[in-house]
Amino acid sequence: MRTQVYLASLSNTGFGLNPASVPLQLGYIKAYAQSVLKDEIDVKIFITVESLLQAIEHQKPAIIGCSWYGWNIYLTTNALQYIKKKYPGILTVVGGAGAPEDEAGCLRDFGLFSGIDAIIPNEGEIPFVNFVKQFLAGGAESFRETKIDGVFYYDRHKERIVAGRPLEKTGDLSILPSPYLQGDLDEFLAMDLTPMIQTSRGCPYGCKFCVSGRSSWNKLRLFSTERVKQEIEYIEQNAVSKELRLTDENFGIHPRDEEIAAYLAELRREKGFPTALRMYTDKHINSRIKNITLMLKDLIPMNISCQTLTPEVQKNLGRVNISIEKFSEAAQWAHSNNINITTEAIFGLPGESKQSFLDVVNTFIKLRLDSSVIGTLFMLKETELNSAETISKYHYRTMYSVAERGYTKYKDFESVEIDPWAVSSSSFTFDEYIEMHEFAFIFNFFMTRGFLKEMVYAWDSRGVKIGAVILELIGNPALYPFIIDKIKRLHSCLLDNLFDTPEEVHIDFVRKYSLVNNGEYIGYMSPYILTCLLEGEMISSENQQVVIDEIARAAKSVFDRDGTGEEKDFFAEMDFLRQLIRLIIIPFWQKEPLAEKIYLDSPYDLVSWRAKDHSGTLSQYACKQPMKLVLKINSLSAYVQFIEKHAKEPYYLQSEYFFRSFRTNNIRRYIEMK
Ligand code: SF4
Repeated sequence: MRTQVYLASLSNTGFGLNPASVPLQLGYIKAYAQSVLKDEIDVKIFITVESLLQAIEHQKPAIIGCSWYGWNIYLTTNALQYIKKKYPGILTVVGGAGAPEDEAGCLRDFGLFSGIDAIIPNEGEIPFVNFVKQFLAGGAESFRETKIDGVFYYDRHKERIVAGRPLEKTGDLSILPSPYLQGDLDEFLAMDLTPMIQTSRGCPYGCKFCVSGRSSWNKLRLFSTERVKQEIEYIEQNAVSKELRLTDENFGIHPRDEEIAAYLAELRREKGFPTALRMYTDKHINSRIKNITLMLKDLIPMNISCQTLTPEVQKNLGRVNISIEKFSEAAQWAHSNNINITTEAIFGLPGESKQSFLDVVNTFIKLRLDSSVIGTLFMLKETELNSAETISKYHYRTMYSVAERGYTKYKDFESVEIDPWAVSSSSFTFDEYIEMHEFAFIFNFFMTRGFLKEMVYAWDSRGVKIGAVILELIGNPALYPFIIDKIKRLHSCLLDNLFDTPEEVHIDFVRKYSLVNNGEYIGYMSPYILTCLLEGEMISSENQQVVIDEIARAAKSVFDRDGTGEEKDFFAEMDFLRQLIRLIIIPFWQKEPLAEKIYLDSPYDLVSWRAKDHSGTLSQYACKQPMKLVLKINSLSAYVQFIEKHAKEPYYLQSEYFFRSFRTNNIRRYIEMK
């Protein structure tokens, strides 16, 4: 009889499946294990606690292997603890990017999480197969004495770790069979989960806040181009979801990536697949990255993630960004090719203060980017930033909140997923953390989705700074009551839901959940989810006018104090931009069919203004005759699918799904010349 091996990459299910992606990482392990151990084993993959527990009740496996990362750290360990209590004979293994690489880290985790027997750091295929081979040869007891390469086993009787040698990374990825092409992931492709493709492994950059920045992951290795194309074709033909995600950290870092991009562009032209593409391209812009972005320009923006521009902070992070000159040159190139250019920054990195971060944000505005996202620092497990040494060096204080959609209940099993946040350090206080959270909420509403991009650049060219407008809004509750109400709700959410320990988060969430009638939605306890809901309220048909009016009034007030140029010109620009914003917002809630293109007679040449990086005042682009512009949805099919899928859901859920799933490139209408 074959030995049963279960693999699980657990998603929370209390408020819908989260995350909802094809478990590619387990597909690799299953495909490789079957290729080596053939009919000695039977491997099944699970993504929910419910299906895993039901399968165990039906047939107890010998081994359960779980993939472990930031979004399921607690769910995985809670599930394994629950399983070990009921079925102590099952061997349990966790592995992946959330697993510690050294003995001290493993000892800590074995102590914290009693349901784990073994830990496999980094790539799991070869060490997991080593582990299963040993089980087949010697049974569960043999792990107490036998060292397995790439595996940390915990002997709980003797409270000691039995570890083999660390393994080198899989140098030749061709030894790993394709789980897609073998059909190992078919059941998940049929479930409307987002399909993922990995074209390469490794990241040569060493950012301390990221698990891919660990030195063990710095060597770049490739799957063959032919295999990648076959996998994409397989997904196109077999997946319910028509979206695609590339897991590569720096797509375009290798010359052959151009060929893959050309293949994707051709597929999109011929078959409309993918309808949406999510990927990170290499942050170091060269002709290859430009070419890739050009080929895929209706699917992806040119993204230059920088996280900070403050030199001291970059040094503390071990991160090398491109220079501002190169950033600016890339922005000019993108605009002249009608490509969106985007970036991201994190508040709270080592050495970053409130003022230095505001300087970073001001530089983003000067660069005239199409979208900038700012967030706060997440203390991701197993990053160098989250090490005891770094925490002590920068005096970080960590607090915890419930993770987005981070709850699962099945029979008597209950788990709350918990996020760790850096809420103060030697360079910022807790009050500044809360203030920057509120600042980020308004900034992201203006700039991440790009809804107010033109308005912000029109202000900036007349001396009206975005920071001053945000402070005007925040500082005058009586004048801007609608927006202030949203900020107050975010403020309360932060103060009510941040706790000093994960245990307090768990207790608080379970108590609140029981008070609201099981099943009622309280996902908004997570600050990130709340911001999605609030943004939805702000752009809804009934509220968008009042929001835009409050923002325009705040800008006029700042103009009276700081502005340059003629007041009448500024007012005329604002009046036109208020209309434009309402047309640019795509009503994802609309029951009637969406128009792919709408037309506008514009008194300004917006196309030339953008091509020239929104430099100069908008009035300098005034036309003698109104200019015919087209406001176009980039990928209408993605909207059609979204509306069909979510039409029956309440508005707050539609908003959440919209802001979580639509990316910069397709979240508002594009402006083109007719
Ligand atoms: S943040 Fe990006 S570039 Fe830096 S280590 Fe992580 S994946 Fe690599």
